[in-house]
Amino acid sequence: MASQEIETLASALARLPGLGPRSARRAVLWLVKRRETALRQIVDALIEVQDKLVECPICGNVDTQAPCGICADPRRDQRALCVVEDVADLWALDRAKLFTGRYHVLGGRLSAMDGVRPEDLNIAALLARVEEGGIDEIVLAMNATLEGQTTAHYIAERLEEFPVRMTQLAHGLPVGGELDYLDEGTLAQALRARRPVG
Ligand SMILES: [Zn+2]
Repeated sequence: MASQEIETLASALARLPGLGPRSARRAVLWLVKRRETALRQIVDALIEVQDKLVECPICGNVDTQAPCGICADPRRDQRALCVVEDVADLWALDRAKLFTGRYHVLGGRLSAMDGVRPEDLNIAALLARVEEGGIDEIVLAMNATLEGQTTAHYIAERLEEFPVRMTQLAHGLPVGGELDYLDEGTLAQALRARRPVG
């Protein structure tokens, strides 16, 4: 039997998405065997990230610098804004490398069931960004779930008064699909074929 410390590590790892207790134990064993190489590297990387982690005050992305690398990048198209539910969606879309604008993270989706109201999301900051001007197109990249679409609809209504073109991801997206789980080709296709809202 493993010691208490190793058990603690295994159960901490088992809480990671995609890992269960069994995979966590295998990961621990793998790390233990590579104490001076892989284990050291992971520990250092974790500490580094923990020390530097900040939320971007502009878009809500998580990065080790503020503003985040995307907001700070002058090559990004300042006129296009892509609104997503979570940081995971931002990362998934950015991996697809098709959207050259900037992002806005809502921090969730409207949900009557979970009691998430508009004021619980990062919507006021979004309106402020749009009100500032200089944005031509807003892509509503919510998940193809009922709550995601309700959120997109609500935001479209709130943005109606601004002179911006609003588009949403094409629904080649599987219904109920979470962006984060889509392969990059499917995501890129949904973004390329985006259509006007309404
Ligand atoms: Zn940012």
